[in-house]
Amino acid sequence: MVKLKSKPCHICHNLADIRYRIQYQENENWVLVCPDCWQEVSQDNPYYRYGGTWKAKRR
Ligand SMILES: [Zn+2]
Repeated sequence: MVKLKSKPCHICHNLADIRYRIQYQENENWVLVCPDCWQEVSQDNPYYRYGGTWKAKRR
């Protein structure tokens, strides 16, 4: 299942090194989405809010 250090996209469940923290539905919690889904849900979306970028750190 999901590993702690790599959270999947909330929508497509793909793992990506960069994810955007957003809200895209009314009364929805903050979710992490990949750049592809971020583009889709952020367009013409009155509920869209941007909360920052989440980058995987590997060291
Ligand atoms: Zn996605």
